[in-house]
Amino acid sequence: MPIKINVPFNQKDEAKKLGAVWIPDVKTWVISDSIENINPFKAWLPPGGGSIIKYPYLVGKSDRTCWKCHKETPLIAFGSKNYFTTAFNPPREVLWDKYDVPVFFQDIKSVDNDLVPVLKKHFPFFQDTYSKTLKKNVWVNTCIHCQTIQGDDYNFDNPGSPFYSLNGSFLQNRKTELLQLRFDYYLDAVINEGDYSYIDDGDGFRFYDGPTYQ
Ligand SMILES: [Zn+2]
Repeated sequence: MPIKINVPFNQKDEAKKLGAVWIPDVKTWVISDSIENINPFKAWLPPGGGSIIKYPYLVGKSDRTCWKCHKETPLIAFGSKNYFTTAFNPPREVLWDKYDVPVFFQDIKSVDNDLVPVLKKHFPFFQDTYSKTLKKNVWVNTCIHCQTIQGDDYNFDNPGSPFYSLNGSFLQNRKTELLQLRFDYYLDAVINEGDYSYIDDGDGFRFYDGPTYQ
C-alpha cells in the first residue's frame, strides 16, 4: 500500500518530480509501492525516524493474567514482515531501510493517526495511557477488568512471555489478524526481533536468522 507523506503546498512540485502521487479524496501525497528507496522523500516523512509498516498489517493476539486483578485479559501486538525503519541507524542522519524479517513492535511511543479509530473499534484495551513508571504516555495493552497497564516487558521479553519469539517463530503458530487500512502506517516503537541476531554488513546492521555467534 502507499506511504503517506506530509508535503507542504509549496513543495508539491518537488515531491511530484520525485514520483509522489496526489490522492485527491484524502488530500495527501503518497509514495507508491513501486518505489523501493524512500530516502529521497525523507523531508516529508517523520523527522525523528521510527517505522513504517507495509502491508500486510499484522496484529498478534494473545492473553495473560492481569498482574493486578488476576483475571484473564486479552493482548495485542503489532507485527510486520515488510517494513521500513530507522531504528538501527545513528540518529544524526535519519535513513530509512527496508526489512523483510518478521518482527513485533513494543514500547510504542506514538502511532499513526489512521490507526487510532481502528484500535478504538477493535482493540479498545490497547490505549494511549499515562504510565506512572515511565512518567509519560505510551500505547499499551490495559486490563479489560481493572484498566491497569499490562507492561510490554512481561509481554515480550522473557521465554514464556505471550509474544516472546524464538528464531523463526515470529508470527507462526499465533493468532494473527490483519488490520484494514488504506495506507501504510507509522509507529514510533522498539522493534522486537526476538532471538534473531545481527550481522554488520558494513553499512549498518541487518537481521540474521541463523545461529548466534559468540
Ligand atoms: Zn486487571
